[in-house]
This record gives sequence, C-alpha cells and structure tokens, in this order.
Amino acid sequence: MAQLSQDCFASGATILSVEDAVAAITARFSPVHGTETVPLERADGRVLAADLVASLELPPFTNSAVDGYAVRGQDLPREEPQLFRVAGRLQAGSSAGLRPVAPGQAVRIFTGAPLPEGADTVFMQEDVRLDEAGRAVLPPGLKRGANVRPAGEDIEAGRVVLPANRWLRPQDVAVIAATGLTEIAVRRRVRVALFSNGDEIAEPGTARRDTQVYDSNRIMLAAMLRRIGCTVTDLGIRRDDAAQIAGVLKDAARSNDLILSSGGVSTGEGDYVKGAVESVGTLVFWRIAMKPGRPVAMGVIDGVPFIGLPGNPVASFVTFARIARPALLALAGAEWRQPPPLRVRALFAYRKKPARREYVRVHLRTGGDGVLEAAKFPREGAGLLSSLIDTDGVVELAEDATRVEPGQIVDCFTYASLL
Ligand code: AMP
Ligand code: MG
Repeated sequence: MAQLSQDCFASGATILSVEDAVAAITARFSPVHGTETVPLERADGRVLAADLVASLELPPFTNSAVDGYAVRGQDLPREEPQLFRVAGRLQAGSSAGLRPVAPGQAVRIFTGAPLPEGADTVFMQEDVRLDEAGRAVLPPGLKRGANVRPAGEDIEAGRVVLPANRWLRPQDVAVIAATGLTEIAVRRRVRVALFSNGDEIAEPGTARRDTQVYDSNRIMLAAMLRRIGCTVTDLGIRRDDAAQIAGVLKDAARSNDLILSSGGVSTGEGDYVKGAVESVGTLVFWRIAMKPGRPVAMGVIDGVPFIGLPGNPVASFVTFARIARPALLALAGAEWRQPPPLRVRALFAYRKKPARREYVRVHLRTGGDGVLEAAKFPREGAGLLSSLIDTDGVVELAEDATRVEPGQIVDCFTYASLL
C-alpha cells in the first residue's frame, strides 16, 4: 500500500493552483512496490519494473534493406554501368545459397536476407536491368554500404533499451519482443476504490425516481482509471450520509492504494464527503483554483490517499484529467509527462476571472492557412455531457489571463492527450 503521511499536503482551506496541487500530490506519493511478471501480450499500458537491457543486438545479423543485388564494395561501377554475373539467390530467413561473393559477381537478394560474406552494398532492383544473357547491368554512383542494415545498428547488445518505470506503449512492447522475450516484469496495478455520492444519483438499469439522474460519472471515471492501468473496485453509489460514507472510506482504505469519489465535496450543506473524510482521516485541501472543478478534496485515511472530485460531469472529467490522473500515474510509478499543449488559434471571444485556471471546451479544425483553429462549444455549464461529446479538447487559460480575443493563439489539450 502507498504510505502517505498525514501532513504531506498544503493544509487548510487555502485555494491551491492546479500546478501546486499536482506538484504536492506527485512529489509525495510513493509508487506501489509490488511487481509481477506478465506475458508480453498483456504488457501494453503497464509500468516496466526494471531497466530492460538488450540481450540481443538488433538487427542480429547484417542484412539487406531492399530487394535487389548484393555486390562487393570494391567492385562498384565508378563511371559507366557494368555487367555482373548473377550468382545465387538469398531469400529472407534462409541461409541456403549463403556463400562468399566472388569478384565481379552480384547475388540476387531480398529484404531481410543476410548479406553474403564479402558483399557490403546492395543495388535496389528498380535500378538494375538484366541483359539478354541474364547478367545484371549495375549503374555507377552508388555509395559503398548503401541499402545495408549492419548488425547492431539499431540497438547494441547490453544497452538499456527501456528504462525502469517506462509506461509501456505498443512500440516499447515491440522492442522487448524483438530481443526474444515473451514475458516481462512490471509494477503491480494501482488499486483504486471508486464511488459516487448523492441522494439524487440512481444506478443505470434500475428504476429512477423523478428527482434522480442516472450515475454517469462512475462509469466515466472507471474507464479513465482503467485506461491508465488501474484496477477498479466499484463501491457503487453512496447516499448523502456522513456516517455511511465514513464507514466506506475506512473499509476501502484497508485494501486500496487510493480512494476516488465524485460529488459531495462542495461547500453546500448537502455535501457530506469532506466531513466523512475528516471523521476517519485528515482532509488536507479542498479547493483548487480552476474552472470547472474548484471543489476538489484531498485527504488521507489510514495512510491511503483520497481524492474527491466534484459531481458535475464536466468538472469530474477535467479534474480527473488534470489532477487525479497525474497523481495516479505517480502512484503507478510511471515515468510520465503531460504532452505539451497544441498552439491553436481561438475563434472565440471569452472573459475570465483572474487567479484561476479555466478550461474551455473546443472543437478543433484546420484553418485555411493550415493553422489549427478552436471553436468554442456554445454553452458553458459544467453539467453538460453533450459539451464533452461534441468537442475535441480543452483550451487552457492561465491564471493571469482575463480575456481571449478571436485570432489569439492559445494552448489546447486534446482529449486524446488527457486520457
Ligand atoms: P455535487 O458535487 O454533489 O454538488 O453535485 C453537483 C452536480 O453534479 C449535481 O447536479 C449532481 O446531481 C451532479 N452529479 C453528482 N454526481 C453525479 C454522478 N455520479 N453522475 C452524474 N451527475 C452527478
Ligand atoms: Mg451532492
């Protein structure tokens, strides 16, 4: 279990900036310790447990990069095309016909086939003509070593190919497979307990009272958690009842690395989550200078971190992406950084309050001059699920900004980079 001291965050009711909140969390979470060995087919999205040292050089033997004709470098035609007798044929994967090339000979060779002894240059078949006698007419001007992939040119044996804590992507898994491995040690998954809060929240598939809305946050957050490799324990919907929530928190802290909730963290009288955290643990901060998403609770219960996201779906989405996700990746031990925002041209005018960061939902398109343009979703409510469906990302407006004018260049995070 991740151990977290009770005093590790800025405390009290201060309003934290997004940066400070993320820094406070990520700097102080210690990554989960356990490791497990998984088959390579299931390694994508996992966190590499130790440096991967190449046990095999890549490519493992010198081979041809093209379909063509292999010759000795010292035989290369200099001024005029020259005739070569074609001797032998080398298919990829076969060592049949692998014998030294004699002076003045060319060997028919295919992509990936090993270069025969003596040969160090390959002519592309497109550049070669065969005469009536079946001899290859090789043009002048080719550089020695052309179209050849020397052994080890990609990766030297013994080199660290992937550092420990790499959050594995398909191409990372590919390099592991290329060294011949079928399984790999990764950090264990982060265990997250997840619940929704609110008397007005109904479980999809059940009867809904007139005054209820179906729970959409929980399935969204569970999906976002799984995308970053977490195991999710579903704690369902919890009523507006501080004692019940306190019991759930205490219990979840026994077997999880983090507890995540949505709803019930504002300052309203109907918000019971903060009080529940305080009754069984410590509430360390609960407001972040961002919109949407100002009320975000952080807490510690028996050493286990708690993050309470706001209930409004858009606020839940944005605070998960910008606050909870970096924290969870730190817990997972993943070496990770948010890809930089795209620089896009705003097509809209916008006013904002200083001293908080704002996220504006936008649709992206390529303008006539090739520059990306951001059109603002016409409405702003933090409860509008449609605003997340019909947009491509969020424009992030810095704390000190107070307005955006059409034509201004702004930072935009696509959803693809936030999920
Ligand atoms: P709260 O943060 O509890 O004040 O909730 C703010 C708004 O978000 C209210 O309109 C809630 O009904 C709504 N809300 C809270 N939780 C959820 C949820 N799990 N799914 C959909 N809407 C929610
Ligand atoms: Mg509520």
